[in-house]
Amino acid sequence: MVTLQSFRKKISSNGKGPGEHITKRLELLFLGTGGADTTPRIGCKCRVCQEARRKGGRFARNGPSLFLLGPSLLFDTPEDIAKSLEREQIHRVRRLLYTHWHPDHTMGRRVLEQLNMSILNLKGRKMTDIWLPTWVREDFRRRLGLDEHLQFFERMGIAKIHEITAGETLVVDGVSLRAYRMAQPGLTAFLVKAGKKRVVLAVDDTKGWVPSDQMVEPDLLVMEAGWFELDPRGHVLVPENHWVRRSEASFDETLKLIKRIKPRQTVLTHIEEMNARSYTDYLKLERKYEDLRIQFAYDGLRLKV
Ligand SMILES: [Zn+2]
Ligand SMILES: [Zn+2]
Repeated sequence: MVTLQSFRKKISSNGKGPGEHITKRLELLFLGTGGADTTPRIGCKCRVCQEARRKGGRFARNGPSLFLLGPSLLFDTPEDIAKSLEREQIHRVRRLLYTHWHPDHTMGRRVLEQLNMSILNLKGRKMTDIWLPTWVREDFRRRLGLDEHLQFFERMGIAKIHEITAGETLVVDGVSLRAYRMAQPGLTAFLVKAGKKRVVLAVDDTKGWVPSDQMVEPDLLVMEAGWFELDPRGHVLVPENHWVRRSEASFDETLKLIKRIKPRQTVLTHIEEMNARSYTDYLKLERKYEDLRIQFAYDGLRLKV
């Protein structure tokens, strides 16, 4: 059991001032709800991307990232994370947790420099605690120079790296997080608890995932949406022998997992541009699957559990 001290000092990350109390509820902010490709995708002139360019807002999706407001805890750093944080007026990130090494979740890691230091005021440096499940750390040591880069931040005095083992519980400001290894190599799901509320996060690569018994019937399940067989007009999106079919969970597989986990509410994210669906198409799907209480996330969605 790793227990961090709860800091009662001013938290500027969510706009609340001094005296903020330790939370019994979970407040989740969807910073970016796109997938490996964001929407609009640069270079793409499809209907969905053009509409996103025209309308912005809920029609556009930045790279996949979540933020827990109480403990000021960021999940992952996609390329455009700085823009997402700026849009939501989050100016302090006290903790950063990585779900896995994939580029769409890590390539914006330099955001720590912008958040925690200013070239003209080096004495005013701030620190972010980075938490890596041990299996994620192993990948970080081998891939994309990730571990080397995080150690560089440590030497700059703007980050401190910690590890969590499988089955270990991290407690921050009254919120507990437990990391679970998923079926896909290097992937992590989390069980997050505050008071009696339970949230399961499985934001990417859920293909073949067998959720732990401890994850059944949570108050909220956050999962990747998965790929779609057909576009809204019935045209085939993913051809028969495409690798996506073998390595990524489809929307139908996602539905099966939801039925198995039986959450009170589900929010689907990591929504790929290749799904050829706009914000309004997802609203229609929400109505179609009303009995499963599914919501498709959009950038800026805030949820209190
Ligand atoms: Zn991803
Ligand atoms: Zn497009």
